[in-house]
Amino acid sequence: MFADVVLGIEGRQFEEHLDSYKEAHHKTLDTDMDADDWKALVDIYKDLVNFPQDPAVQLRQAIEAVFLSWNTPRAIVYREMHNIPETIGTAVCVQAMVFGNFGDDSGSGVAFTRNPSTGENHFFGEFLVNAAGEDVVSGVRTPRPISEMEEKMPLMYKQLFETQQRLEQHYRDMQDLEFTIQEGKFYMLQTRSGKRTGRASVKIAVEMVAEGLIDEKEALLRVSPEHVEAFLHPMIDPDARRDIVASGLPASPGGATGQVVFSANEAVKVAADGTPVILVRRETTPEDIHGMKVAQGILTELGGMTSHAAVVARGMGVCAITGCGSLTIDYEKGTVNTADGISFKRADIITLDGSTGDVMLGDIPKTEASSSDDFQTLLSWADKYRRLKVRANAETREDAIKARELGAEGIGLCRTEHMFFAADRIDSMRGMILAESKEERQTYLDKLFHFQKADMKDLFEVMHDLPVTIRLLDPPLHEFLPQSEEDIQALAASIDKSADSIREMTRNLHEVNPMLGFRGCRLSVVHPEITEMQVEAIISAAIEATEEGFNPHPEIMIPLVVNVREIRFITEIIERGIRKAMAEKQISIPYKIGTMMETPRACLGASRLAPAVEFMSFGTNDLTQMTYGFSRDDVGKFIPDYLDRKLVEYDPFITLDQRAVGRLMKIAIAESKDRKKGIKYGICGEHGGDPVSIQFCHEIGLDYVSCSPYRVPVARIAAAQANVSGDVPD
Ligand code: PEP
Ligand code: MG
Repeated sequence: MFADVVLGIEGRQFEEHLDSYKEAHHKTLDTDMDADDWKALVDIYKDLVNFPQDPAVQLRQAIEAVFLSWNTPRAIVYREMHNIPETIGTAVCVQAMVFGNFGDDSGSGVAFTRNPSTGENHFFGEFLVNAAGEDVVSGVRTPRPISEMEEKMPLMYKQLFETQQRLEQHYRDMQDLEFTIQEGKFYMLQTRSGKRTGRASVKIAVEMVAEGLIDEKEALLRVSPEHVEAFLHPMIDPDARRDIVASGLPASPGGATGQVVFSANEAVKVAADGTPVILVRRETTPEDIHGMKVAQGILTELGGMTSHAAVVARGMGVCAITGCGSLTIDYEKGTVNTADGISFKRADIITLDGSTGDVMLGDIPKTEASSSDDFQTLLSWADKYRRLKVRANAETREDAIKARELGAEGIGLCRTEHMFFAADRIDSMRGMILAESKEERQTYLDKLFHFQKADMKDLFEVMHDLPVTIRLLDPPLHEFLPQSEEDIQALAASIDKSADSIREMTRNLHEVNPMLGFRGCRLSVVHPEITEMQVEAIISAAIEATEEGFNPHPEIMIPLVVNVREIRFITEIIERGIRKAMAEKQISIPYKIGTMMETPRACLGASRLAPAVEFMSFGTNDLTQMTYGFSRDDVGKFIPDYLDRKLVEYDPFITLDQRAVGRLMKIAIAESKDRKKGIKYGICGEHGGDPVSIQFCHEIGLDYVSCSPYRVPVARIAAAQANVSGDVPD
């Protein structure tokens, strides 16, 4: 071990010498070797190692080795996985040695005060007679269950059992222990809080409250967001991880295995008989939704954490890895090559770990997701102790049902454009965009009105008396237009236009910087008739829902605002739509009009916006994009290098950048809150589901966070943790 850990000589070399010695001398087991054999072998080892003879030198070198281990690649990866700051450093503990390999009245073992996989409250561990601790943990010998120790060494077992109880009571947490027995004397070597699975973590926290060891607030702090994911998604068994061929961004958590397919249509075809598929694309666009829906997992070469693939997959609760830049995808040949020269092809089985971003070959075992009574108890405590409300980003009836099931208290963002990408609507949308006269556009708007109204009614019914925030159309219009020749031809037939004219109009709508171009509220300014149609549909749906006994609370939200004039101009259009819908039914319902806060200018000018709105919702995807000047759809190409080189501490599209983006939010709140009585603040960018960002949202006084339905439970717990962390001593 000294040679291995301190001098950096591979342990394998010692094993090889041992094996060849045993073979040459016809010995099978280590225990067949007598003292002379070991002496002879040690002479061979001495040629490998220049072993320092002064104990003080040995000790000093050993201590240095421990400190140096802080910077080994393994330690660095571990820290990254668990968000442990590099700066905290490590400590060295020097102990006198005891020996578990002194004969049959000696032994070593490791144990957990509770089962670390299931959380069950029974003592759990392994031990070996006549063995050093290293023999137990390294796997060179197969340890025996701790129950055998009770039979073989009852006195020692009694001491161990009483000690573990005492340690758990003292530390008030499940302990991971190491012990040694030397010639009938019991020694505790180490105790620390034990690592545990998500399920175990929740069970232990909840049971410890019942046992009076901790209180509800502390139980909430004992559970990490990753632990909560295990109840919502199948997770890759950490012990089974192997054959990692590439790594990208952990865009949507959980584990998934399936056959590789390269297009949405292929996904639908292969999945038709229930075959699980992984959709592999350079990037996804709204045209791929049908394939994304049937896929177990989505893997893209490009795109960051707020790219289309990431946002949509999270919303659906489908595992996804984006920005996997080391892949070269060849659609024609149906192959994928990794940077390390490994390749896989169409119909091969691969596994994605959306929680770490790792791509693996083959079918890797997973733990299944399912709720538990303990989990529900913990969530009920979260609701009791949080101040922040938690809403969901949702567009469809199914999303809304899921959101409520998982505890959402409203919809904080309904991206209306998602409704128009569905197969039965997209041609009306395209017809509306490509219309050449007002009349022609109106015929398509009339069709879209019915779709929009029906969709909105679905949401109002499911959400009943909870608020539903509906954002007006946001994306650049060319995103709706067909790309492939096949789709252009189909559209030409459907809307009675020539393929040439469609191509020509698509070219006209082309933009150099679409993210900063003709999108957001700019669409309402140029095409007020679209906004009017949307609002009329929203309010008509709310009126119908009211007539049927529901109690809808629509909140209409204007995207990508830069100044108050835009808000005033668009509010007039909105109110026109509302008046029209209400006049028809002679009925009035409550509604709110608010703005997204997605541009630095909106944040810096918030005091002027406030009087014109009833709520502000921070769209931190765009706000991050515009604050950094990093394109949210292209960061996958460079953010991994930024992270590797430590040019950024974390991906700002995952965890909110408090220093600049957060500062803009603080300025916006500070300068606007006294300008409008009762104004509400929320966040609906992807950060609304990120626990560290939620803590910040709590601190700056937002009223709610909104995130994809599957992140609602994590957000409920994170919001509670933010509120109670000051009440529980470290
Ligand atoms: C945002 O920009 O944060 C937002 C929620 O809007 P979208 O992601 O749809 O641009
Ligand atoms: Mg936005």
